[in-house]
Amino acid sequence: MSEALAIDYEVLFDPSKRYIANAISRFAARDILYNCPKCDKERVITWMFPDVSFDFVDECCGVMVVLIPKEEE
Ligand SMILES: [Zn+2]
Repeated sequence: MSEALAIDYEVLFDPSKRYIANAISRFAARDILYNCPKCDKERVITWMFPDVSFDFVDECCGVMVVLIPKEEE
């Protein structure tokens, strides 16, 4: 199994626009914009609990990526 790749991202919507995600996470969820590390296509994913890192396989090119919480003030 390959190591997940930490990717750069932007917060698109905070909280998420997805009702279900907000219901489950109690409005912690955020919609995240990032670029596929392989083909650079724009991708959007809902990060349910942005205070903990989230790894997943990007369905675009099948690359394993990880979102790491940024320091926020
Ligand atoms: Zn891709």
